[in-house]
Amino acid sequence: MKIFNTLSRRKEEFVPLTPGKVKMYVCGPTVYNLIHIGNARPMIVFDTVRRYFEYKGYEVQYVSNFTDVDDKIIKKALEEGVDARVISDRYIEECKKDMAALNVKPATVHPQATQEIGGMLEMIQTLIDKGHAYVAEDGTVYFKTRSFKEYGKLSHKNLEELQSGFRELKVTGEEDKEDPNDFVLWKPKKEGEPYWESPWCQGRPGWHIECSVMAKHYLGDEIDIHAGGEDLIFPHHENEIAQSECANDKTFARYWMHNGFLNIDNKKMSKSLGNFFTVREIGEKYDLQVLRFFMLSAHYRSPLNFSADLMEASKNGLERILTCMEKLKGLEEAAEGQAESCGEQENLAQADKLRAKFEAAMEDDFNTADAVSAIFELVKLANSTADSSSTGKYVSSLRETIGQLCDVLGIITERKAEILDSEIEAMIEERQQARKAKNFALADEIRGRLLDMGIALEDTREGVKWKRV
Ligand code: AMP
Ligand code: ZN
Repeated sequence: MKIFNTLSRRKEEFVPLTPGKVKMYVCGPTVYNLIHIGNARPMIVFDTVRRYFEYKGYEVQYVSNFTDVDDKIIKKALEEGVDARVISDRYIEECKKDMAALNVKPATVHPQATQEIGGMLEMIQTLIDKGHAYVAEDGTVYFKTRSFKEYGKLSHKNLEELQSGFRELKVTGEEDKEDPNDFVLWKPKKEGEPYWESPWCQGRPGWHIECSVMAKHYLGDEIDIHAGGEDLIFPHHENEIAQSECANDKTFARYWMHNGFLNIDNKKMSKSLGNFFTVREIGEKYDLQVLRFFMLSAHYRSPLNFSADLMEASKNGLERILTCMEKLKGLEEAAEGQAESCGEQENLAQADKLRAKFEAAMEDDFNTADAVSAIFELVKLANSTADSSSTGKYVSSLRETIGQLCDVLGIITERKAEILDSEIEAMIEERQQARKAKNFALADEIRGRLLDMGIALEDTREGVKWKRV
């Protein structure tokens, strides 16, 4: 299996630290808002990477954090007059709902920065003790970039270049830095901000230290894959490498994977340009499976343009797969012990070749675009060869292959049953009758059935209200 490693800027054969196991860390979102479709790209892409490893029989430990202490969270908390925790808890919950709707598997662990302060204090102290960090007069702790000879190895920048780039850039409050490239590990609290006790000052951690600490806590000093969006290469991931390798004296991650950016109508996604969509907004117009399918129609490292036309094309493509799977299911159920025709063996051999084509695409740095083409070829094969004269064995084999490969991409091939308003109303009426008859067990069961279908009930003074969730 080949993976493009940002560190070497080339595709490398994947060799796990431990045979049969993969340890992955993916930088997650800062939780101060609903996630946007750009944030959804790394979630979908790296969930697919994980699914492919699992399909190949690897045991994957997948860690993805929530950054729950940050300037933007604090700003929002001040605006709403609530604790920062209220904001981060709210958006973690919302993010988890979006992830579920995108069929992104929950991580093995979703650590939160505020729960890992102890580990951060420890790592910062280690860095100070080893001469890789220093404490300024106001209690700020900085990482001394010059103390790490390999600084810049991920972003392929050298310190001199960086130095000249930074010279003009004076950050207020950071006048005590020995070198413009040094970055904050710990900073003093400001009025009204959350803070923790530390040996240096009451304060809070810098952003980069959280990922080094959480990766160490849940995966150990050495991991197989570290991933995130390409904007994180510098400075975030460069700084993570510096912290982890100086503290642990081990190579931090073997493979660094970065997804390209998602643009809208060929422009950078930005709130000020008004071309900015949350996952929730897209979910109102499309089944979010369409968004997932759209994201995987391109290679993860390429920039990807979001447009209504491309979403329509993805919707139609997905529809073709779902229709084919429905047809196969119908044929399988109706199959009546037909005699096998010689063509079926050949066609199954062809299906095996297409599975191999899918795998080869995935093993070439997760080329999901080509993997999707292999699925379309399978759909074409099924549509042109499976009919009422096919054996059940033949039909179910095709259905299983397409279903399995779609599952690697996180695409659910069972069409969601459309539930009509009239059916919902009828069930609510049935529940009301049950309640009247004091059959609360039945009433609860009906409520549960509705919830399974994505319908939540609310008993109000004006009667029962329902909504789709
Ligand atoms: P943030 O909350 O900004 O730290 O972002 C969380 C993740 O989303 C990071 O891996 C970012 O690189 C990624 N990300 C943010 N915007 C985009 C975008 N427009 N396209 C692709 N990835 C993005
Ligand atoms: Zn990170």
